[in-house]
Amino acid sequence: MAVPKRRTSKTRKNKRRASAYRLNKSTYVECPNCHEPMLPHRVCPSCGYHKGKEVLELN
Ligand SMILES: [Zn+2]
Repeated sequence: MAVPKRRTSKTRKNKRRASAYRLNKSTYVECPNCHEPMLPHRVCPSCGYHKGKEVLELN
């Protein structure tokens, strides 16, 4: 059976934790049309605008 030659350092272990934390973090950008927080690279859910024109009818 394979045995680790060196123990994992605190820094290396903590970096592993940090990378998992980053995956769960959600990011937001402000909509240029209605200034609502929205997910990047997606159509704005509050005004239906994307890349300067309306792509969704919201009523
Ligand atoms: Zn918007």
